Amino acid sequence: MALLDVGKRIKTLAQWMDESKRLVVFTGAGISTESGLPDFRGPDGIWTRKAKGLPTQWPDLSLAEPNPSHMAIAELQKLGKLNFLISQNIDNLHLKSGIRPELLAELHGNVTKLRCSRCGAQVDKSTGLDTCSCGGKLEHSVVNFGQSLPQKDLSDSYHHSQNCDLFIVVGSSLVVTPAADMPRIALESGARLVIINKGETPYDPVAHLRFEEQIGDVLPPTIAQLKELMEQPHT
Ligand code: ZN
Repeated sequence: MALLDVGKRIKTLAQWMDESKRLVVFTGAGISTESGLPDFRGPDGIWTRKAKGLPTQWPDLSLAEPNPSHMAIAELQKLGKLNFLISQNIDNLHLKSGIRPELLAELHGNVTKLRCSRCGAQVDKSTGLDTCSCGGKLEHSVVNFGQSLPQKDLSDSYHHSQNCDLFIVVGSSLVVTPAADMPRIALESGARLVIINKGETPYDPVAHLRFEEQIGDVLPPTIAQLKELMEQPHT
């Protein structure tokens, strides 16, 4: 099947966003490579190196800034159109872009946060605390291979995937479970599935709309069109 011209696909996506009542966005490393960050699970990614027992060093993520695609998702929130954001990224760029913490699940943790091993509360590393107000020990929130994912983030993600009408994948190849289950859950609930990713995903044959283009060439112009649509009187 030949893909429609990108302008037409962007127009369709903007219309679907306008129609959507419960929009969920799912992001992976692809959105942050445009901020100059490495893909952590790539061939020389930090997780790949850890899994091989090679020495690793965290890149200095405090220098990274949200790019226009992160800002486009924050704009969706401003427009009242973002129901929930699920991210595989640990780089803190969604929070830095202004996403409200209650709308965000970080499935793999966040490099700037500690998590209480007893109650699950998150605390900024910059506080210097090592004990939670509940008395539990504060530990790094980043999830390594083989460790279980944060329970609340995971259950919120399943809940919102099941209850959305539009599920937009941004920069993930959708191969790591359980994150990779979420598009299927959304589809089974009758949602439209949109994938913006360079490179194949297992969901390509069932996606309602597919972008192979750079994320930065898709999301910002789509949100600009959505704003125009929302300004028009609806009948
Ligand atoms: Zn606690």
